[in-house]
Amino acid sequence: MTELDAVVVGSGPNGLAAAVALARAGRSVLVIEGAERIGGGCRSEELTLPGFVHDTCSAIHPMAAASPFLRELPLDQHGLEWIFPPVACAHPLDGGRCAVLESSISETAAALGPRDAAAYRRLMERPVRDWPRIERDLLGPLPILPRHPLLLARFGLVALRSARGLAEGRFAGEAARALIAGLGAHTVLPLESAATAAITMVLGLLGHRVGWPLPRGGASRIVDALGSYLLELGGRIETGRWAESLDELPGSTAVLLDLTPRQVLSIAGSRLPAGYRRRLERYRYGPGVFKLDLALDGPIPWQADACRRAGTVHVGGSLAEIAEAEAAVWRGEHPEQPFVLLAQQSLFDPSRAPEGKHTVWAYCHVPNGSTVDRTAAIESEIERFAPGFRERVLARSARNTAQLEAANPNLVGGDLAGGATDLTQLWTRPVARWTPYATPARGLYICSSSTPPGGGVHGMCGYQAARATLRRELRD
Ligand SMILES: Cc1cc2nc3c(=O)[nH]c(=O)nc-3n(C[C@H](O)[C@H](O)[C@H](O)COP(=O)(O)OP(=O)(O)OC[C@H]3O[C@@H](n4cnc5c(N)ncnc54)[C@H](O)[C@@H]3O)c2cc1C
Repeated sequence: MTELDAVVVGSGPNGLAAAVALARAGRSVLVIEGAERIGGGCRSEELTLPGFVHDTCSAIHPMAAASPFLRELPLDQHGLEWIFPPVACAHPLDGGRCAVLESSISETAAALGPRDAAAYRRLMERPVRDWPRIERDLLGPLPILPRHPLLLARFGLVALRSARGLAEGRFAGEAARALIAGLGAHTVLPLESAATAAITMVLGLLGHRVGWPLPRGGASRIVDALGSYLLELGGRIETGRWAESLDELPGSTAVLLDLTPRQVLSIAGSRLPAGYRRRLERYRYGPGVFKLDLALDGPIPWQADACRRAGTVHVGGSLAEIAEAEAAVWRGEHPEQPFVLLAQQSLFDPSRAPEGKHTVWAYCHVPNGSTVDRTAAIESEIERFAPGFRERVLARSARNTAQLEAANPNLVGGDLAGGATDLTQLWTRPVARWTPYATPARGLYICSSSTPPGGGVHGMCGYQAARATLRRELRD
């Protein structure tokens, strides 16, 4: 006898979003999580010293704050409070210069110098204005019938370019080009790859529309709020239970897997037709990440003042340097000067560290599966723009790709995005299908970041998968 409407395997932001969407529709749902705590790639822990709260994976959340699904939930009533640093993102350059992404387009543009200010305004003003009308088309599967085809086409003309083409085609100065390169490097692709401008543009315009916030108390607050709301809606959560096969799950009409294709094959392979299995086997993962968390006895002594006002700092220098670092990772190398993504949450959230002390969250890209220790390379890039930084380090916690994957099997080879986000896998992941969330097996769905719109904490993969499940399996 079927007891439940749905079982969700995995309690990452997408698994929880899927469960919440189903429970809000009045369906009975159970979330099964292997780890002892919910949250997947969105958790916080005292990784270094007592009193220092570090985000184990995600730290900065423009996509969560802007998510059309998450923002309609009463997560504030379940403990989620956003903090918006005055500068979303700073990008230091040699000699104390710095590009900044601020909420004001004009101020961001002005800091890029007279040659590039107008070009920046031209690039951003329209997409920032159009965003509310195109967000739903972009944050889901490839839209066959877009709601605003002309606006989407106009965005697409820019988005389909490479980040490097965008930077060099629109801007002349080092600061503007570096700012674009830093945003583009979030794709974990070579900056010359087609469509890397899509994520570049989305991150940039969200800096202007909503900011790049962090949750007070740590990233865990996002998933804790989702979990608490799910329980209030009558959903259930079971932790500490790794699912190894569909057969061992409680009976339900639908199963939603917050897993990447490799685990889907291992858990559900026997239920899937051979053709679909082969397509999942061909799914490609991208490079991994090397994660470094630090406890400091003071703030990072940045040369550029703007870096002290920024939640996120892109550390890697010029467009040419970042492009070379990212290309090297794709060649299977460990660049001497990696591009480092850094967040300094405790500057804006005193609950993250004892008084006067600070946390640093940083990572760089590495070849998939790498076990090379990148601590020294990351620290010397920070030191380049903040002389004296190393002397402030009290304690370190470093994790290579194998350690990350051991903690969360979704991080295959350290890939933080649930699979490469190149043009062929960006909107059509895990395989190109009308409803990419549905597998050919009746009642079986995928709701992880290996489905559109891909990596990041936004819950839209889970929400879209839940909608597909409700439409196809759980209609009234
Ligand atoms: C170092 C790092 C930094 C990041 N920084 C950011 C950031 O700043 N901002 C941002 O938006 N995103 C960031 N991300 C990406 C973000 O964390 C992910 O995109 C997001 O967590 C994906 O959510 P998900 O629900 O698809 O999967 P996950 O969060 O990976 O959750 C999957 C869950 O499934 C569980 N699970 C797996 N297998 C099983 C099984 N067999 N049985 C039961 N449970 C299982 C796992 O334990 C996990 O809890 C970062 C990721 C990493 C690794």
